[in-house]
Amino acid sequence: MIVLTVRCPHCGADLMDNDNRMDGVPSIRLATSSSLGNRDIGLSAVYGSFQVRSQRQMTSGETVLFACPTCRRQLLFPEGCPQCEATLVRLELIIGGHVVFCSRRGCKFHRLDVSDRSRLAELMR
Ligand SMILES: [Zn+2]
Ligand SMILES: [Zn+2]
Repeated sequence: MIVLTVRCPHCGADLMDNDNRMDGVPSIRLATSSSLGNRDIGLSAVYGSFQVRSQRQMTSGETVLFACPTCRRQLLFPEGCPQCEATLVRLELIIGGHVVFCSRRGCKFHRLDVSDRSRLAELMR
């Protein structure tokens, strides 16, 4: 499997949450806001897992704005989802490049843009 290690593309803050593991590896911690309020959530760092940990069940089809828990800036990608046109979220990979995924719960669109593909092996577990 591919395990992502990510940071904020704005302030460089480490987004990995070593205290809360999901799928057996440290999870990714993000701040979110939606029409139903603000909260922090955890995402599985396993690429393609789509596991989410949240204080509240996310409704399928709900779109949320994702932000950095440190600088609070939004993690937007300047393109809509090719599958459902919702906002895409972009996180910076420690090895260089980005992971992009759809903000709509239930949409499975995701993409990995690694700057140096020879470093992709570093993500394999
Ligand atoms: Zn930040
Ligand atoms: Zn989508």
